[in-house]
Amino acid sequence: MRSDFPGLVTKDGAPWHYLDTAATAQKPRAVIEAMSRALGQDYATVHRGVYSRSADMTLAYENARRTIASLIGGGEDEIVFTRGATEAINLVAKSWGKANLKSGDRILLSQLEHHSNIVPWQMLAQEVGAHIDVVPLTSDHQIDLDAAEAMLTEQHKLVAFGHVSNVLGGVLDAKRAADLAHKVGAKLLLDGCQAVAHMPVDVAALDCDFYVFSAHKLYGPTGIGALWARSEILLEMPAWEGGGAMIDRVTFEKTTYASGPQRFEAGTPAITEAIAFAAATHYVQSVGLGAMHEAEGELVARLRRELTAMNDVTVYGPEASAGIVSFTIDGIHPHDLGTILDEANVAIRAGHHCAQPLMDYLGVPATARASFGLYSTQEDVTALLEGIARTRRIFGKGI
Ligand code: PMP
Repeated sequence: MRSDFPGLVTKDGAPWHYLDTAATAQKPRAVIEAMSRALGQDYATVHRGVYSRSADMTLAYENARRTIASLIGGGEDEIVFTRGATEAINLVAKSWGKANLKSGDRILLSQLEHHSNIVPWQMLAQEVGAHIDVVPLTSDHQIDLDAAEAMLTEQHKLVAFGHVSNVLGGVLDAKRAADLAHKVGAKLLLDGCQAVAHMPVDVAALDCDFYVFSAHKLYGPTGIGALWARSEILLEMPAWEGGGAMIDRVTFEKTTYASGPQRFEAGTPAITEAIAFAAATHYVQSVGLGAMHEAEGELVARLRRELTAMNDVTVYGPEASAGIVSFTIDGIHPHDLGTILDEANVAIRAGHHCAQPLMDYLGVPATARASFGLYSTQEDVTALLEGIARTRRIFGKGI
């Protein structure tokens, strides 16, 4: 499978041990070629042209919406293309949130959220006078749903949780979270950025109300992502950005808006990105998300086992992680580790991973994070472990 990914070699043609897929995934040729065709021989605008190339492009763009919907078991009339998960959450906050939250209402988040599932809610809370509550974590760093149950009240209008933590890899019991939210009349938004590329997702089975994700973490291009919203909710949501393509009729006195997803897609959309997003979806569907989850699970298990055996290493998060392992080594800053690993063609992420409240909770400024994708191999894990051994020697720590 690695040969499908031209990005997995260094400039000198050596294997590149890319362990930063949680930040962004490398792209298979199928995606690169789909994007290139869409920018080349197939290129035209969508929705407006009367000529056949534009009609074909419109068909391809709307087919892409259907494909993305099929990935998560949603309806095509429930998928809004956005610039990514971040924009999708902002869209929900600015449209649904402003229309449905008022002073005194509450929003429930968790301690492990990515900044993009915190800051838009803080902005909304400040604007409407709502309050944010934060669910703590269990001892193995998962969202504590017992605590969430005890915290939820009738004032809570929204629960927004990561489906999979981008730092720890823990998988939320999303169905239970949905039941808890719905019991008090709140909606559940799931940040699916780290879930969709690692496991089968079915929004109907999860029973959530909003689901967001980015194409670039799913082997697709940057600049595009999706918001899935339950159709009865989407139909009621007010437009949030004005412009072309999102209208029904415009006069200077009054504008009426398009119904369905188009109402939220002002301007010329990311046409080529949508088509490449669909190609990426086809690619992961052909590999099989269940099989991917299993293969990544073996890499996680070995890495966690080997790291845990080192007495100066702390490994965070639960055993069963969706392709992500975060750790720290006493006396070695994750940035130093990352820099030394880079010399051995091993790429990890070092830092706060856009989750500073989680770092505060763990009591560390940063962690080192290795994250796997469908192209990751045992050789990548071996290269990482050898790089860690070399780093310890450089720091005079022995093995
Ligand atoms: N949520 C999670 C859990 C993420 O991992 C990321 C990306 N690091 C985001 C949200 C934001 O995604 P994007 O930057 O693609 O909008």
